[in-house]
Parts: sequence; structure tokens; C-alpha cells
Amino acid sequence: MSFIDNLDTIAAIATPYGIGGVGVIRISGPAALQVFNQIVKKKEPIHAKATYGVFKNSISEEKIDEGLALFFKAPHSFTGEDVLELHGHGGPVVIQMLLEAVLETGVRMARPGEFSERAFLNNKMDLTKAEAIADLINARSKSAAKAAFRSLQGSFSKEVNHILEGLIQLRIYVESAIDFPEEEIDFLSDTRILNQALEIEKNLANLLSRAEKGALLQTGLNLVILGRPNAGKSSLLNQLTEKDTAIVTDVPGTTRDLLKELILINGVPVHVFDTAGLRETEDIVEKEGIKRAHQAIKTADCVLLLLEPNQEILNNNNNFNFIMDNLLKNRDELLDKIMNLENLENKDKNKKELNILNILNKVDLIDKNILLNLKENKNFKDWLFISAKTGEKIEDLRQSLLFLLGLEELGGSQVFSARTRHIECLKKAWLHLKSGITALEKHKAGELLAEECRLAQENLNEITGAFSSDDLLGRIFSSFCIGK
Ligand code: GDP
Repeated sequence: MSFIDNLDTIAAIATPYGIGGVGVIRISGPAALQVFNQIVKKKEPIHAKATYGVFKNSISEEKIDEGLALFFKAPHSFTGEDVLELHGHGGPVVIQMLLEAVLETGVRMARPGEFSERAFLNNKMDLTKAEAIADLINARSKSAAKAAFRSLQGSFSKEVNHILEGLIQLRIYVESAIDFPEEEIDFLSDTRILNQALEIEKNLANLLSRAEKGALLQTGLNLVILGRPNAGKSSLLNQLTEKDTAIVTDVPGTTRDLLKELILINGVPVHVFDTAGLRETEDIVEKEGIKRAHQAIKTADCVLLLLEPNQEILNNNNNFNFIMDNLLKNRDELLDKIMNLENLENKDKNKKELNILNILNKVDLIDKNILLNLKENKNFKDWLFISAKTGEKIEDLRQSLLFLLGLEELGGSQVFSARTRHIECLKKAWLHLKSGITALEKHKAGELLAEECRLAQENLNEITGAFSSDDLLGRIFSSFCIGK
């Protein structure tokens, strides 16, 4: 992509709305220097050096604020164009007045994400990096921020480019073999081609699986806690929300709707379907209860099936067999209800398999020996035994959840931030490569492999933006915020 020129100059407030020590206005485009001359009225600024000055409205001559002006000469700036930053005081009114003065010089308001879009179009960064900046700014947990920073540093694009490189090599080899048939390369007996294709396929599958995890750091998981009234669903939710959640819930704008709570488990955002939503109609056989439970289960990545030692159990606190049968019976009944919901209303064959965790709550009420026997009994080998009251084994529950969902390594250095669109591209590329391999193995069809490699290459190019339609770019950048 070539350097873009003849573009108009754009401006926007780059700092968040509100009161703060400093407020920054960013201006990018050919008229940036002119804006400096009109607002700051000092002699030529020096590249990347701050100039102190009084900011004035160039038409009314009114003094608005004082602060620092930073000028970056093209192409050595974030956008690749001339960029001016005016660092004034961070009050909503004063910064707005300064912005108006800047706009009065003839530049226009930037659209959301337009600075990043220009940076991309001027080859200052590829798409994954531009998206990583947005993800870093929007990160809701340390793990998400770390992953976004890894993508910003190029971890993701490096791996995509590595796979692309492999695909290109493979295509060159296969296509030259097709073009020079006198060489008579037997595609099947020349295991080099197949091995190379399989190696790329393996790397692609591995990248896809890590990208899926990275994307989860952005989108989060859906968790449903199901149980009879009084099983301890709200208490469990409180235990789960206790740790790490302030960062999520304190931020204005992070919505907490009636049915969902957003919590973090080891940095993974988890949308817990609040039992409060099911509370008025907790009997899930009721019509409204069924509807709500069904909606929640439909999108769930995991269901926590919460059981409690009911009165009957507590009355027979020493009778192991009675307790065991009672618990298993209760669990099966609850499970039946869920499955019935599924069968009755959910005809969607594509639905992902439901992960279910059996949990016995209120273990503080159970006789110690009975509890020990339960834990050792093979019927309960996948169960968790917790107390939402004392917090016992809640940490184990968090870990089991992460393990069950394959997320235990999310904090690790292998995870980078990714988006749904990246995953779609990786999946398509992987499927193309797989069909290419099948064509080679089954039909010795080198041409088909070459064609599938070409299609896979296009899909991968879409990730970094080397091949992207204007429409796609528009959609990506418009989701960014203004001033970015
Ligand atoms: P929900 O109806 O399923 O949301 O249940 P709640 O969380 O409201 O709990 C019902 C009752 O059980 C409350 O009185 C809780 O204090 C109590 N409770 C919940 N978890 C435990 C636990 O682990 N041990 C004990 N002893 N009581 C619990």
C-alpha cells in the first residue's frame, strides 16, 4: 500500500472526557504545522520536541489555555503524517474550547479510529497491531492487557507471516512442479510436499487454538449457575465476584444488566448469568423460568449444577448410602430438566457441547467422615465440594473452570490478543489447507493443493491487512474510539 497524500487534516480530543491534569488534542495531516502557527504562534517547532506556549483562538485572538505543543514531522509520527499534539489542561470545557479553536483553522473532526486508520494506510503498522492498540486501551484485566501488548509488539503478525512464508514456499514448489511436468515430480512419492503441507497445517491449527484463547480475553465466557432455590447460587456468585472484580465493576460504562454479572477469573472475563434473574420464577419448570434458563443455557460455555445437602440429608447425617443416593437422584433430576429444555426447545444441531460441573455446596453442614467418603466415592469423582459460606474450595472451583474450558494457560506468554474476525480468517485458511492436503493425498492433485494454498494465503493476508477490502477496513476502524 502506498503512502497516502492529499488528505485533509483531522483533529480530535485524545484524552478521555472528564477532569484530569492534562488534556490532549491530536491533529494529523498536511495542515498540522499551519494549526501550530495559528494557535501557538511561535516560530517553527522542532520535530519531537515540546514547545511551551499560550494557545489562542486565531480568529478571536482570545487566549484559551497554556501548555505544551509537540510536533512530529512526517513520516516519523504515529500516523505517518505531520502530527501536532496540544497538551493543555484536562477540563471538559477548556479542552472543548481548544478543539473548537483548532477546528476553526479549517481542519475537520476525526472519525472514530481515523488516526489508526491513517497509520495503517501509511504502513506504520499492520491491522493486528492497530487492533491491538484498541484492545490494549479497552483491556479489562491484566491478562488481556498483556496479551494485547504482545500483539502490539508483533507476536501475532509474526506468526501469521511465518505461516504465510511457508505457504508461499509450498506454492512455489508445487506450481513449478506443475509448470515443468518433464521433471515428473510424483506429488505423492515426493513426501517433501506432503510433509511441508502437514507442518504448516499443524502450525496453523496451533495458532488458531491460541488465537481462540486470546479472543476469549476480549469476549469472555458465559457461565450459568443452576440449582434449586436456596442451593446457594447467590452466595456462590458473591464468592466468585469477590476477587479481582473491582476493576471491572468500578469502571463507568461497564454495564451490569439484570441477568448478567461480569466477573474475572484469573483475568478471564466471565459473564455469570445471575440467578437473581431466575429468582422470581426459580422453579425452572415454570414458563418464564424455562424461557430464561433456556436462553442462558443456550449461550453457556459451562453450567454449574449446584446441589445442597437438603433437609432429608441433614436428618440422616450419618447414613452414607442414603446421602449418596439422595444427592445422585437430585443431580439427575436437575440434569433431566436441563436436558429436557435442550430437547424441547433447542433443535439447533450446531450447538456446542455443554460443559457441566457438579457441585455440592454447604459442605460445612455435612459430617466430616461422610464428606470424606463422598469425596472418595467413584460416583462423585468429578464433583466439587464447596462451601459458598466459608469460601472453602472456591479457588479449586475457579481452577476447575479454567481447566474445563482449556484456559489454564491464559496468563502465559503464548497468548496474544485476537478478535473474532482473526479466528474466522484462521479457520478458513486452515480448512483450505486441509482440503488441499486431502486433494494431494487422495487424488495426487497438486493443482488443487496449490489453489487451496492460494486461498489460504488470501485469508491470512486479510488478518494483517495485506489484503483487505475497504468495507472491512471501515468496519474495523469505526469500532475504535475518537482520537485513536
Ligand atoms: P439461592 O437461592 O440459590 O441463591 O441461595 P442463597 O445463596 O440465597 O443461599 C440460601 C441460604 O443458604 C442462605 O441463607 C445462605 O446463607 C445459605 N448458604 C449458602 N451457601 C452456604 C454454605 O456453603 N453453607 C451454609 N451453611 N449455608 C449456606
